Amino acid sequence: MNIVSSKRELSEIINDLKVEGKSIGFVPTMGALHEGHLSLMKRSNSDNDVTVVSVFVNPTQFNNPNDYSKYPRIIEEDIAKLKSVKCDILFTPTKEEMYPEEDNREFDFGNLERVMEGKHRPGHFRGVALIVSKLFEAVNPHKAYFGEKDFQQLAIINRLNEKENYGIEIVPCPIIREKDGLAMSSRNMLLSKEQRENVSLISKTLSKSLEQSKNKTVQELKDWVISEINVNKYLDVEYFDVVDIKTLESACDWMNKNNLIGCIAVHVGSIRLIDNIRFYS
Ligand code: AMP
Repeated sequence: MNIVSSKRELSEIINDLKVEGKSIGFVPTMGALHEGHLSLMKRSNSDNDVTVVSVFVNPTQFNNPNDYSKYPRIIEEDIAKLKSVKCDILFTPTKEEMYPEEDNREFDFGNLERVMEGKHRPGHFRGVALIVSKLFEAVNPHKAYFGEKDFQQLAIINRLNEKENYGIEIVPCPIIREKDGLAMSSRNMLLSKEQRENVSLISKTLSKSLEQSKNKTVQELKDWVISEINVNKYLDVEYFDVVDIKTLESACDWMNKNNLIGCIAVHVGSIRLIDNIRFYS
């Protein structure tokens, strides 16, 4: 595995590989890798000749400085995991490398950035768009892999890719879960033992909501999900919404049920977890 920290060196290596006719797959991450991340890399490995992974904790997407400072950084363990799945190039830039000067660009993602994560984490998607655009320009891959756990982020990246005409194929990958259903997340390792024992209620309630949706209105279902989870003293729902998979607009009824997704954010002490579930009729 080639470990690179300069954008220029990275672009040169990738350009050479492209001249040789190699296809390039890219998996951007913030590290503290788990099976969810590794599933994206395995998918990239099966689709492409070369897999490039970036590990960079992007400061501009954290609206909460405390969340940024305590975000897990365990690069040696990450490197061991990357070697176990075959990663050809690991890009680990510094903050100065990615942000040599202030980047004042603004993006307009319309409704996609005004709801759910966008509403509760002001500036978050601008930070995501800043870093993903810089990474896309440095790597310029044929395909890039993103997890459906961050469903709204995936919608934003698709829009960014269209707007900036990158011409990259964005490949959505399914949510990988722990045995008890908890969606894997780098933040899970920050949970205390008691918190960890209680957080599976989030995914369990989302699973049950599929059955509940058959005899409840959308509003009744939203109220039901929130109250089921908030009963637990460790959990505090920030939002749960049922939205259209393309526009992310809130649904009023179950017409078009196959295009609806329920998205949730839950505070567990100072840790914030997200998850989602697709509905079907
Ligand atoms: P992060 O390091 O949290 O920025 O995540 C990097 C990529 O991994 C993003 O595309 C995430 O959506 C994806 N990802 C994170 N957790 C999971 C998971 N449990 N299952 C599938 N993909 C995931």
